[in-house]
Amino acid sequence: MTGRHDVAVVGAGLLGLATARALAARGADVVVLEQAKVGHEGSGSNGTCRIFRLGYTDPVYVGAARQASDKWRELEAESGRAILLPAPQLTFGPQMPAVREAMRQAGAPCELLSAADVAARFPAISVGGPALLEPDSAVIAANVALAALAAAVPDLRTGLRVTALIDDGSQVTLLTGGEPVMARVAVVTAGPWTSGLLAGVGIRLPARATLEQVAYLRPLEDGGPPAPIFICHGSPEPYGLPVPGADLYKIGIHHSGPVTDPDAQTQLPDDELLGRVIAAAGQYLPGYAVTRGIAERCIYDNTPDEDFVLDRVGNVVIGCGTSGHGFKFGPLLGEWLAGLVTGDAAPPARFAVGRFSAASRG
Ligand SMILES: Cc1cc2nc3c(=O)[nH]c(=O)nc-3n(C[C@H](O)[C@H](O)[C@H](O)COP(=O)(O)OP(=O)(O)OC[C@H]3O[C@@H](n4cnc5c(N)ncnc54)[C@H](O)[C@@H]3O)c2cc1C
Repeated sequence: MTGRHDVAVVGAGLLGLATARALAARGADVVVLEQAKVGHEGSGSNGTCRIFRLGYTDPVYVGAARQASDKWRELEAESGRAILLPAPQLTFGPQMPAVREAMRQAGAPCELLSAADVAARFPAISVGGPALLEPDSAVIAANVALAALAAAVPDLRTGLRVTALIDDGSQVTLLTGGEPVMARVAVVTAGPWTSGLLAGVGIRLPARATLEQVAYLRPLEDGGPPAPIFICHGSPEPYGLPVPGADLYKIGIHHSGPVTDPDAQTQLPDDELLGRVIAAAGQYLPGYAVTRGIAERCIYDNTPDEDFVLDRVGNVVIGCGTSGHGFKFGPLLGEWLAGLVTGDAAPPARFAVGRFSAASRG
């Protein structure tokens, strides 16, 4: 039986690594247990890049994204790596006025462009109407971010799956295929596997995993201006971003993937879904070859209200439910989750797990 740690973190995805880094910075003895490896293709943090934006319809998220931006800059300074790569973003669709209003309320800069302005300033994209320019958006170099976070974690053990948790009130025993691991507190940041693990300690979490589909497209002409980041806030919700360090553009449709079992994922493309992604590319990206491109599957960890779950129950801290929009908040969520361990910081109450049982009690 190994000695007792201050904290054991389950999962070396974005949330687990960011939390372990924040706890190590507070001097805690923290161990991270990962069933596979950092950023593996079955995790929600897999892939080259993500969108960082301030634009949300909810000012709370606009404010949180601004805080997260500062935290990413700290990690860049600490690691000497560029992680947030500034890129303009165009936001349009039925929800755009609500995004604009929330950004205005939060004091975040944005500019409404006419259809003619969009066409003149961003010829590689066809919006077909006015759009909101978000100047503070960026492309997140996701794999660089994970590597920088992992480098700040003193004890990371991969290939170790936690099969159950036992919270006896004074400590948590984490059962694995090998020696059990003991810790004063366990942080469960296991993405779409979290609800399954928490059921064992009587915590009910109505989460649903979906297997999303993205495609990487090549420009028709070399050397043309890359298309900006775009999000069409509506239903469906296509989005796209230029890939850092490659002449490629990533495109997907938010929340369009089928419900899936995280332990039974496939990397095979979903032809029907890929067809819809390519059709969106045809509609918005006249400067790109709308062939099948390079297809990639990636898993979302969804809550019913698409708000995160950040809470503590006994000696178990929970961080999950990022519902396809958590990457941009990574280091901030790490600080909040570490604060739930040490008691020196707390996430907004709206992320409490109890909201679901309250809802189910009606
Ligand atoms: C296609 C796609 C596009 C996205 N685009 C954006 C975007 O543009 N902007 C944005 O902000 N966000 C975006 N996201 C969301 C973002 O990537 C996720 O919110 C974030 O990566 C989730 O991180 P996580 O740590 O919660 O989960 P994960 O990365 O899934 O990490 C969980 C880890 O726990 C491990 N694990 C699970 N069970 C166990 C166990 N029992 N024992 C040990 N280890 C275990 C898993 O192997 C995994 O490595 C996107 C996601 C996808 C899939």
